[in-house]
Amino acid sequence: MSAQLLQKRIAVFGSTGSIGTQALDVIADHPDKFSPEILTAQNNDELLIQQAIRFNPNIVVIGNENKYAKVKEALSTTDIKVFAGEKALEEVAAMNCYDVMLAAIVGFAGLKPTIQAIENGKVIALANKETLVVAGDIIMQKALEKRIPIIPVDSEHSAIFQCLVGEQRSSVEKIILTASGGPFLGKKPNFLENVKKEHALQHPNWSMGSKITIDSATLMNKGLEMIEAKHLFALKANQIQVVIHPQSIIHSMVQFKDGSIKAQMGLPDMKLPIQYSLAFPQRIANNFPRFDFKRMNTLSFDEPDIRTFRNLALATTALEKGGNLPCVLNAANEIAVFAFLRNRIGFLEMTNMIEKAMDKIPFIETPTLNELFESDGEARNFVANSIKL
Ligand code: NAD
Ligand code: MG
Repeated sequence: MSAQLLQKRIAVFGSTGSIGTQALDVIADHPDKFSPEILTAQNNDELLIQQAIRFNPNIVVIGNENKYAKVKEALSTTDIKVFAGEKALEEVAAMNCYDVMLAAIVGFAGLKPTIQAIENGKVIALANKETLVVAGDIIMQKALEKRIPIIPVDSEHSAIFQCLVGEQRSSVEKIILTASGGPFLGKKPNFLENVKKEHALQHPNWSMGSKITIDSATLMNKGLEMIEAKHLFALKANQIQVVIHPQSIIHSMVQFKDGSIKAQMGLPDMKLPIQYSLAFPQRIANNFPRFDFKRMNTLSFDEPDIRTFRNLALATTALEKGGNLPCVLNAANEIAVFAFLRNRIGFLEMTNMIEKAMDKIPFIETPTLNELFESDGEARNFVANSIKL
């Protein structure tokens, strides 16, 4: 068989982001295994053009339509097709020129293209956790109907996925999601009240996009990950435990019904779960730095402080109640983080806004996709109006 037939054709949705650029590094290291067929970006036209020239994909999409002419012009001497706008993301996801969608758009914006890819029968390598938080029941049901594997990219979920290979789902007692605790581990509300975005953006172990970095500082990231895990692994809320593990070496664990615990470990480097998700079910040799037990003699564990980091308590409520509540939590959080990053509200106010939105937006127990879009819009408007954005 020729090399081309063995290659997986990858659609990198969100190619200019932290996950997207690292995915392209992985792809560049294994040109015999992967070829990037679709690249998409929202605003970063310069980087999208550079990536297109370097990787020569079939298609690029620039979300911001004002940038279409520039991208089109820059690629006019190539045969790369250029599209623009939100609708184009869905149209391209419905095409047949790829095998795996790497869903690496940040936030709610990643939902529609991912649904389209599932309906189109494509394998999903899922980084965009908000997709499952907002519409996990609908997404997993669609994936089941279409027999589409959803392979997690998020390091904790990749860890659990790896621990479950060869195991029966009915053998799982619980999962243990590890959390670094972020830059404010051990801090109390009187300190958090005054922290600024510059400080919150300094994550101790991971370099990521700004939204998820703030989510990590507030522990909302772990809350979203609990909900993500519930859907990915068909768990009940009481089967999901969060443990603080500041070194980020154990990426998460599964405890089985005989009491045995499996952990997946390694240095904190997203390229590993990205590579695993693209190569699955294979493992590919690489030269990423290795964890050395001689250089780290302590791995520590602690309870999360949910009185201080109340987002984790709010997310637990959303996890337990389900319905449209995770969608509302997510939408309110997206606007609150946006406002915090623009110095419009303080660190602790983010949580207050989310809590108010969860109280305010009417609860729907089994929402349709359209109802979720409505709840998302209502929660966004509610928080934006409260802040006078
Ligand atoms: P990022 O902000 O660095 O990149 C986001 C990408 O999405 C960019 O390519 C951007 O152009 C695109 N984008 C942004 N808004 C868009 C919109 N409205 N429409 C279309 N495209 C849009 O984010 P990231 O850190 O790479 O995170 C991406 C996703 O992966 C998030 O859901 C995040 O939670 C998840 N994730 C990230 C990491 C990490 O290490 N960065 C780890 C685990 C999970
Ligand atoms: Mg994670």
